[in-house]
Amino acid sequence: MRLPTELKPRPVPVPVPAPAAVAPVSATAPVSVSVSVSVSWERYFSRSAHAMVPSEVRSLFSVAARPGIVSLAGGMPDVSALPPDTMAGIVADVVREHGATALQYGSAQGDPGLRERICSVMALEGISARPEDVMVTVGSQQALDLLARVLLDPGDTVVAEGPTYVTALGTFKAAGARVVQVAMDRAGVVPDELAAAFRRLAAEGRPAKFFYTVPTFQNPTGATVPAGRRARILEVCRAAGVLVVEDNPYGLLHYDGEPTRALAADDPERVVYLGSFSKTLAPGLRVGWVHAPAALTAKLVLAAESAMLSHSALAQLTVDRYLRTQPWRERLADFRAGYRARRDAMLRALSASMPAGVSWTVPDGGFFIWLTLPEGMDSRELLPHALAAGVAFVPGTGFYADGRGARHLRLSFSYPPAERIDEGVRRLAAVITAHL
Ligand code: PMP
Repeated sequence: MRLPTELKPRPVPVPVPAPAAVAPVSATAPVSVSVSVSVSWERYFSRSAHAMVPSEVRSLFSVAARPGIVSLAGGMPDVSALPPDTMAGIVADVVREHGATALQYGSAQGDPGLRERICSVMALEGISARPEDVMVTVGSQQALDLLARVLLDPGDTVVAEGPTYVTALGTFKAAGARVVQVAMDRAGVVPDELAAAFRRLAAEGRPAKFFYTVPTFQNPTGATVPAGRRARILEVCRAAGVLVVEDNPYGLLHYDGEPTRALAADDPERVVYLGSFSKTLAPGLRVGWVHAPAALTAKLVLAAESAMLSHSALAQLTVDRYLRTQPWRERLADFRAGYRARRDAMLRALSASMPAGVSWTVPDGGFFIWLTLPEGMDSRELLPHALAAGVAFVPGTGFYADGRGARHLRLSFSYPPAERIDEGVRRLAAVITAHL
């Protein structure tokens, strides 16, 4: 039988210590020998582990964090807007008053009191939720991972927006799924294109399992799907028998008017909703949630038990106390004003410095602007020049599963102060101009 090369036994190099390095051993003493063997890990990894590769975006963060570089790459919230003494007081009170719970194991579904308060947060987007349909997660990222475990088999198809959130792509791919991305315009995914993709996939015998969407202030484009189109998207998914996963970490960071009505508000049976306190409070707490129909929630709770037994009770009770004792709606308004000012700084700098032929989106909330370069330019080729000039961005290719997106790049305005944003955009404009 011929074994594939990676399974053939290989000679294992065993380092032989030099005689002088070997300690004398008495004839009766127990001998413990530790042999250092170099293991070829590739042979042991699961298929899923093989599919896990570092994303372009994550690998960039360490470079972008170098001093002197203005990072318009990472989408980090501005946690300096939270009063540190207030947060310290909340954590201290939680431990003092609820130590027996806060320092103990809890349930995998999450703290009941927090789940009730999460329902009132979701009410702001028109969702009437019950605490029993909510499960707390370690950020919405964990909800994506658990959904992949519970809904996807290797070879399944997920449909997503093109472009889409990079780490969701990685999670679905690690689960062995094929991700098919559907074209967007300035108002989000195009419903007719979505319907055509569902038809094509069904005809190929690989029907989509769910449609993953970030319909409000999307990462990476900043696009928001308007009300009429939302109804049409739900109709298209219903007709094709496809579930919807609505990922909405930015929904409450709208710069004008009222929050956008969530897709889950209009079809809670079909739409699985993911929320997070990462952008509206602090990502370091790692508290998010998923709202799903009972049958799915029950499976997600089992998957969460297997992943981590229970959540951090300390983090959950901290969020719960913050929501109970702090003017969180007013603070959200302050966060919105801060991000809006940063967005305006970026838009002003783009208008002032970008050469003709470059265009960009104007988001009504969230953290991101999506830039389109003149025909023939490739954002991956620009990146080293931009880093040398002291500015970082994320090339558009990171947000596609198939290498598309080279003419685009994502800029984030959530973290640097306005004057740094201005400087960063000017540096980028100079690099683009030099490569025209
Ligand atoms: N979904 C989207 C669209 C995001 O942009 C992010 C964070 N960048 C997440 C999910 C994950 O966030 P967290 O786990 O912190 O809630």
